[in-house]
Amino acid sequence: MAFNQPLGGNEMPRFAGPGTFMRLPSQENAQGLDVAFVGVPVDAGTSNRPGARYGPRGVRSESVMIRPYHMASRAAPFDSLQAADLGDVPINTYNLPKTVQIIEAFYDAILAHPCKTLSIGGDHVITLPILRAHAKKYGKGTIGLVHVDAHADVNDDMFGEKVTHGTWLRRAVEEKLIDPLRTVQIGLRATGYAADDFDWSRRQGIRVVQAEECWHRSLGPLMDQVRARIGGGPVYVSFDIDGLDPSYAPGTGTPEFAGLTTIQGYEIVRGCHGLDVIGGDLVEVSPAYDASGNTAMLGANLLYEMLCVLPGVKRRD
Ligand code: MN
Ligand code: MN
Repeated sequence: MAFNQPLGGNEMPRFAGPGTFMRLPSQENAQGLDVAFVGVPVDAGTSNRPGARYGPRGVRSESVMIRPYHMASRAAPFDSLQAADLGDVPINTYNLPKTVQIIEAFYDAILAHPCKTLSIGGDHVITLPILRAHAKKYGKGTIGLVHVDAHADVNDDMFGEKVTHGTWLRRAVEEKLIDPLRTVQIGLRATGYAADDFDWSRRQGIRVVQAEECWHRSLGPLMDQVRARIGGGPVYVSFDIDGLDPSYAPGTGTPEFAGLTTIQGYEIVRGCHGLDVIGGDLVEVSPAYDASGNTAMLGANLLYEMLCVLPGVKRRD
């Protein structure tokens, strides 16, 4: 079987050609796919700087330099899986509750096929409807979660609203979309509304790894622990780009200093190899605050890293 390939840099200049993720073929539905890249252009869930609605376009635009083979792990995702770009979810930019329903229905349709999703946000609110769709497929309370973020995203409400980029994880726990005992949050830091803000997560049994625990260290040993804790069942990976320090990823809506390094971000995603990863997302890239394009480029590379740790991806000798 011939798998879809990204359009190569010697066939069409990197700065030209299709605007899909890695210049993969586009497709209208998930028929025949093992993995689909999906853009979710939402920023109505944000609480500070806007602009994550342009995240999918920005990340795709900066994905053009990624080549097919992973030189460290020798992963060969495009020798192993049928991948395509399904375009963007047609959200309702005037109505966040409707947008959330539209996203869930869009993912229901994809997950009706034996296809996984790697999603390009959009703000972090998108993870709630994506997890709702996954919980229908994989079972309530069965999904483990690797969540990288500066923020816990467990507020009960924001401005009285229950569904925002800062509340989605609390809703996901309450709705039993995920298994809190198989959930880890990495990179949390900075200031809170109350001194015990992160303790709501801990009370649910979630493993919370604040950024200070990560300073000056390799996260390889942490990921050994994470795999031991959350292996043995399906795992979703949700990567908020603001988990990384703003010196690496300034193009985001709610930056917090003293965060994870680029290398630590890679260690986390690469450390998911061996887990039953069922999907992932990269959220909160806001290109208007990303003068160099590096935040979007880093986001694109983190999505590629997620692709390379999906089960079934062969690693060449
Ligand atoms: Mn977040
Ligand atoms: Mn965040």
